[in-house]
Amino acid sequence: MRRQLFINGEFTDALSGETLPTLNPHDNSVIAEVAMAGREDVDRAVAAAQKAFPAWSRMPAAERGRILLKLADLIEQNTEELARLESLDTGHPLRDSRNLDVPRTAGCYRYFGGMADKFQGETIPVEAGFLNYTLREPVGVVGQVVPWNFPLMFTAWKMAPALAAGNCIVIKPAEITPLSTLKIAELMAQAGIPAGVVNVLPGLGSVAGQYIAEHPGIAKIAFTGSTATGRRVVAASAGNLKKVQLELGGKGANIVFDDANLAAAVNGAAFAIFHNQGQACIAGSRLMLHEKIADAFLDQFLPLARSIRLGNPMDEATEMGPLTSAQHQQRVLSYVEIGREQGGEVLSGGCAPTAEELARGCYVEPTVMRAKTWRDRIAQEEVFGPFVTVLTFKDEAEALEIANGTEYGLGSGLWTANLPRAHRFARELRAGMVWINSYKRVNPGSPFGGVGLSGYGREMGFDAMREYTQVKSVWVNVDAQIQPHYRRS
Ligand code: NAD
Repeated sequence: MRRQLFINGEFTDALSGETLPTLNPHDNSVIAEVAMAGREDVDRAVAAAQKAFPAWSRMPAAERGRILLKLADLIEQNTEELARLESLDTGHPLRDSRNLDVPRTAGCYRYFGGMADKFQGETIPVEAGFLNYTLREPVGVVGQVVPWNFPLMFTAWKMAPALAAGNCIVIKPAEITPLSTLKIAELMAQAGIPAGVVNVLPGLGSVAGQYIAEHPGIAKIAFTGSTATGRRVVAASAGNLKKVQLELGGKGANIVFDDANLAAAVNGAAFAIFHNQGQACIAGSRLMLHEKIADAFLDQFLPLARSIRLGNPMDEATEMGPLTSAQHQQRVLSYVEIGREQGGEVLSGGCAPTAEELARGCYVEPTVMRAKTWRDRIAQEEVFGPFVTVLTFKDEAEALEIANGTEYGLGSGLWTANLPRAHRFARELRAGMVWINSYKRVNPGSPFGGVGLSGYGREMGFDAMREYTQVKSVWVNVDAQIQPHYRRS
């Protein structure tokens, strides 16, 4: 299979002719050769987007919305193909791609399709004789760079609000997972998105990604990925002072108090860390247990972790697939040694599975490690895999100190029957999102993003529309008698 860049409404090779194979992480076999965009392809895409911008941004918002609603329908009609492509390329179990990723992707386009003509400016009560109102205008050509962990969903989170607001897009999927984004480009053309409005450029981060962040013709960059790359994006964007939106790493605290419903917390904590092999910025990767219930909790949690069915993502029964690349598999496994060196103890997993049918893939057993202290590396650094660090606490004050004791601040969860405590923690936790008696809920209407080294800006909801628009304030003299400022007679 060969796949090309999508520029100005057409699939085309990179001008350099370069390609990169994309691999199936189940066995590291080649799925497709994909064109890799270079700087000259970014230039072509930006030019196409700039040309498309006047007509797209002036199209009635309801009409843009109608096109996005049609796209949502097309995504649903192509559920099976999209789900299979996503599973093949990323390793998501098919049941998740089909039941979570595709419906959430369609739901996101549908939500912002409905939003397009409902996001409005304001009238401001200024001094008598004047009318002052605001317009929310699209930013222009926006650059979007996304990672490999949820390609379908993350491209929707970025493209849907940008398009609803009237922007044109140059988007770069991760070099190792470009396939579903290219399929979405095809569906976008079918839905009636005009040529040049969306341009998809698979390519290397250090080449195409870096140049998108630098490009003087791009007015805003929205980035999801690691904190280290986020810093590079900020530096690269300084040339033309781009508007920047960053969704970076996390080290989610998932706190279980001694009054929690244990069965619900056990199940929720497993989903929080093992869904998508733990490759989620909001993963509940620090499992914080009240010391009174820690043993009882682990008595249920460890058998559940061990029972998760690892396997080929295309198998309907698989609950956990491989990590998305061999390089990342090695990185995740290296944290077992890092943990041990600081006195950590493996409670479950800690290795690649030995079964023959998984040996060629990027698999890692669901891993549970107890850290010696909450300052240890496995309790501080983002592992981004099926790897949860267990910590204990004795009271609320200590729980809060540990939970807030990282440089990240994305998602956090807590499990308790005590209502005042739940709300107290929701207020005190340093995080962009807090889940009470649940974990990892997302909805296109609910703002998503972080604080600290987890980035800034918000995806989803009205906040996303704010991110993809700029405010213009318009003053009208309706009947003001203005005294001349410079009297001459
Ligand atoms: P990354 O930040 O390197 O890659 C994310 C995206 O940025 C990719 O599309 C990549 O091509 C692009 N990129 C790389 N260098 C760039 C540059 N200089 N300028 C512009 N774009 C560039 O992340 P990764 O290597 O894919 O993963 C490494 C770690 O990042 C993970 O282990 C995890 O900790 C974190 N991560 C976080 C998320 C998240 O959802 N917050 C997603 C993926 C990875």
